[in-house]
Amino acid sequence: MKKTIKDLNLKNKKVLVRCDFNVPLDKEGNITDDIRIVSSLPTINYLLDNGAAVILLSHLGRPDGEANRKYSLLPVAKRLSTLLGRDVCFEDSDTVVDDTVKSNAAKLKSGDIMLLQNTRFRKEETKNAGTFAEELASLGDLFVNDAFGTAHRAHSSNVGICEFLPSALGLLVEKEVEIMGKALKEPKRPFTAILGGAKVSDKIAVIENLLNIADNVLIGGGMMYTFLKAKGYNTGSSLLEEDKVEMASSIIEKASEKIQLPVDTVVAKEFKNDTDFFTTDADKIPDEYMGLDIGEKTVDMFINVINNSKTIIWNGPLGVFEMDNFAIGTNKIAKAIADNKDAISIIGGGDSAAAVEKIGLAENITHISTGGGASLEFLEGKILPGIDAVDDK
Ligand code: AMP
Repeated sequence: MKKTIKDLNLKNKKVLVRCDFNVPLDKEGNITDDIRIVSSLPTINYLLDNGAAVILLSHLGRPDGEANRKYSLLPVAKRLSTLLGRDVCFEDSDTVVDDTVKSNAAKLKSGDIMLLQNTRFRKEETKNAGTFAEELASLGDLFVNDAFGTAHRAHSSNVGICEFLPSALGLLVEKEVEIMGKALKEPKRPFTAILGGAKVSDKIAVIENLLNIADNVLIGGGMMYTFLKAKGYNTGSSLLEEDKVEMASSIIEKASEKIQLPVDTVVAKEFKNDTDFFTTDADKIPDEYMGLDIGEKTVDMFINVINNSKTIIWNGPLGVFEMDNFAIGTNKIAKAIADNKDAISIIGGGDSAAAVEKIGLAENITHISTGGGASLEFLEGKILPGIDAVDDK
C-alpha cells in the first residue's frame, strides 16, 4: 500500500505537488477545458486546510526542453486562482527553479500557493536525469504525486523527486488507483470491457489482460477491421494492420466465447463527414469502401451486453466520433453505459472521455479517468512508475 496525503503530518510543511495541468488551449492561449485543474482541487484544498503551503508542479504540452511561452502555465495560474478564490503566486522562470524561486519558496507560509513554470521547459524533466529533481525537491519538505495523467512516465517531477523527499499519493491518484484497481481485482460480474480506437497495436496488451479478467470484450473502432480480416472477411479500404491479423486471429481463437466483434458497419468511400455512407454486414464490405462506425445491429448487440453488466470499462471510440455522421455508434454506446445505473462504469480517459463529455453524460459515469495513456497501461496490468516511486505505508 502506498502512503497517501492522509498519512502525512502537514502542519507548517511546504508540500510540492505534481499535478496534471496539461489542459487544452485555443489559439489565443485560453483554456478550453479545465477538468484537469478542477480534478486537482480536492488535494490542494486538503493540504491547505491541514496547514501546509503548496508548491505546484506540472507540464503543459511539449515544449521539448525549451522555455517556450506558448506552453506557459500562466493561464493555469489564473484559472486556479479563480477556482480556489485565493492568490496563486506564479513563478515564471525559464529554468523552472532559480535563485528567486528558491528565495520565494523559502518565504512561503501555511496556506500559501505557488505554481512553478512548465517542468518541460527543462530538458532533464522527461529524461529523469541531471539535477532537476533535486532542485525541485530543495524547495519543500514533502512530495505529493497527484498527476495520474503522467503516472505511466518516469520523469524528474514525479519519479526522480521521490528520491529526495518523503512522498505520498494525492487524492486524485488514490481514487483512480482504487476504482480501477478494484474493478480489475474484484469486479462485480458480469464484467464487460469495450475497446475501440484506431489501432490494434496500441490495444493488444489491454485486450490480452482484460480477456483474462472480463466476461465480455466488445471490439469496435478502427481496430475492428483487423479482427474482421482475421475472420477472413474483405475489409475494403478500412483501417487495417496487416501485420497484426495473425495476432487478432489467435486472440479470436483463444477467447471466442468472450470476444464479440461487430456484425455490421457503416461504410463510406471517403474519410470525411460529408460523403455518402451506408450500413453493410461486416462480411460484405465492398472494395473501395472503408468502415467508419459500428452498425445498428452491432449497437443493439452491444447495448444488450451493457444492460446486463455490473462492471463496464470503456476505452476508445467505436467509430470516427469526431465526424457527426460516424459518431452515432459511439454516442449510443456512451448513453447505454451512462443509463446502466446498476453498473460501475469506468471510462479510460482520452477520446472516450471526450465523447461522453461532448454529449453531456459525464455525470452518470462512476469514474472518468484523467489519464488516457496511464489508464491504458493500468488496464494492461502494468505497474505505473509514478505510483511505484511513492513511499509505501
Ligand atoms: P485511440 O487514440 O487509439 O483511442 O483512437 C482514437 C481514434 O480512433 C479517434 O480519432 C477515432 O476517429 C479513430 N477511429 C475510430 N474508429 C475508426 C475507424 N473506423 N476508422 C478510422 N479511425 C477510427
